[in-house]
Amino acid sequence: MQIVSSSAAMQRLARKWQRAGTHIGFVPTMGYLHAGHLSLVQRARLVVGKAGKVVASIYVNPTQFAPTEDLAKYPRDLKRDLKSLRELGVDVVFTPSDGEMYPHQAGSGYSTYIVEENLSQSMEGAARPTHFRGVTTVVAKLFNLVLPDVAVFGQKDFQQAAVIKRMVADLNFPVRIIVAPTLRERDGLAMSSRNKYLDPEQRAQAVILYHALQAARMAVTKQSISAERLHADLKEFITAAPLARLDYVSFFDPETLEPVKQVAAGTQMALAVFFGKTRLIDNAQL
Ligand code: AMP
Repeated sequence: MQIVSSSAAMQRLARKWQRAGTHIGFVPTMGYLHAGHLSLVQRARLVVGKAGKVVASIYVNPTQFAPTEDLAKYPRDLKRDLKSLRELGVDVVFTPSDGEMYPHQAGSGYSTYIVEENLSQSMEGAARPTHFRGVTTVVAKLFNLVLPDVAVFGQKDFQQAAVIKRMVADLNFPVRIIVAPTLRERDGLAMSSRNKYLDPEQRAQAVILYHALQAARMAVTKQSISAERLHADLKEFITAAPLARLDYVSFFDPETLEPVKQVAAGTQMALAVFFGKTRLIDNAQL
């Protein structure tokens, strides 16, 4: 397994593979890897095959964090991450520095961004106004450096995957996007690097996100229900966990992300809940 931290070296390697007709599968991450991330890597290998190349990137992208967010304390364990990726037979781990990704030369700071203007406005985009601009920009840059044929993203970040798919379609990136299922802990909590922030009491209550999704699914199995009503019911349901503070619950069309008035089987639900300063998200199709 090769570890590459220079952008130029990454792109050179990718171009060499491309010229040889080698398929490239790519999994972008912010590191502190868990089984969910690793399932995306396995999926990438499955798609490109033994003859293909699998690249994983580990980069905590500053432009997708607001100044008030957890950039400085985002968990990191590069040594453990590299061990996990090596065991999975990853070919290259791309670990650029901030200076590589956003160079600040004298007189010419970094000044180009990609902005998706529709799907990125609601939910995570409303709660974190500069977040998706950072995500689309860094993913576009990574695509230009890794030159993947296929890139794998997690359904855990449903809106992110939708925004990336739109960017790829709108800007004609020659990349196939695969969205892979959310891996969960035994009790149902979606795996996330941010779960590390939770103290034992918060961790025990964090399963409320998953239970809220299940309760909503139950509520719409036999008949549809108004979004307003289901929202009120779930708000009450989540408040039953005393350490939980609801940020949002949304019911929307999985393709357009347009909010629905009436929730039925097939509607997508997403929610964000704070436990102290830790903000957790989850989603599912009902
Ligand atoms: P992150 O390191 O949090 O930026 O996530 C990197 C990729 O892993 C993204 O495509 C996420 O959607 C995906 N991911 C995060 N958590 C999970 C999970 N529990 N199951 C599957 N994929 C995940």
